[in-house]
Amino acid sequence: MTPQPLPSALPLTDRTRHRRLREQGSLARADLDAILDAGFICHLGVVIDGRPLVVPTVYGRDERWLYVHGSVASRSLAGPAPVCVTVTHVDGLVLARSVFEHGVNYRSAVIHGEARTVADPDEKLEGLRRLTEHATPGQWSYARRPNRKELAATTLLAVSLEEASVKIRTGAPDDGDGPDAELGLWAGTLPLTQVWGAPVPDPLLPPDTPVPAHIGRREGTRHG
Ligand SMILES: Cc1cc2nc3c(=O)[nH]c(=O)nc-3n(C[C@H](O)[C@H](O)[C@H](O)COP(=O)(O)OP(=O)(O)OC[C@H]3O[C@@H](n4cnc5c(N)ncnc54)[C@H](O)[C@@H]3O)c2cc1C
Repeated sequence: MTPQPLPSALPLTDRTRHRRLREQGSLARADLDAILDAGFICHLGVVIDGRPLVVPTVYGRDERWLYVHGSVASRSLAGPAPVCVTVTHVDGLVLARSVFEHGVNYRSAVIHGEARTVADPDEKLEGLRRLTEHATPGQWSYARRPNRKELAATTLLAVSLEEASVKIRTGAPDDGDGPDAELGLWAGTLPLTQVWGAPVPDPLLPPDTPVPAHIGRREGTRHG
């Protein structure tokens, strides 16, 4: 199935319109795509029996849909249902002169949608492929793929990427030109980066089992 491309600008709806810290908002779909592509963990927010539940979970995507998966027994994966999905990258601490102006440099996305359970077997397999490849490119071709029993035990939910918002904060604290600049305190940012480590073989592996290139080459590279 060829996914329909979405408009290059994110829609301003009642749900996506920023009420606070509007200057950090972006309406560029390219910014949403970059945030989604930089991570593989989202927080899926659902309402179960009238109570909110937010669960961290792995995701994958195509141009049109964000996919999350899990056990058919998961209550958070019961579609159709209204959901809110967030993806967050922390780029550093913003350490201002005043505690009030402290903050975080970040990139974040919030997706509002109606989750649908993917029933079509081809879309389900393709969604699972995207999910696997999103976290570990090359792994779908390397590892054993799900069999019929495993597919039957797995729910795949699709959430449209249509209604989404983005916020990005970069740069220095905001009180450098205010009265607190006179305090003589240090202020600035403390960057945070995540770097992939060396692959650790399963102790049960035969010792001569090579690390696949698509896994080994990530060592020392930056995540996020
Ligand atoms: C790592 C991190 C730490 C943060 N810490 C704080 C904090 O300590 N205090 C604080 O006030 N704020 C913090 N923020 C910003 C926070 O996420 C909200 O944007 C902000 O608090 C405004 O919330 P609100 O309820 O007024 O949102 P509103 O502006 O009312 O939200 C309206 C709509 O804007 C969109 N939206 C809101 N926030 C975001 C977002 N972060 N990313 C993408 N879309 C968004 C959603 O679609 C939402 O439905 C932090 C953000 C990140 C990523």
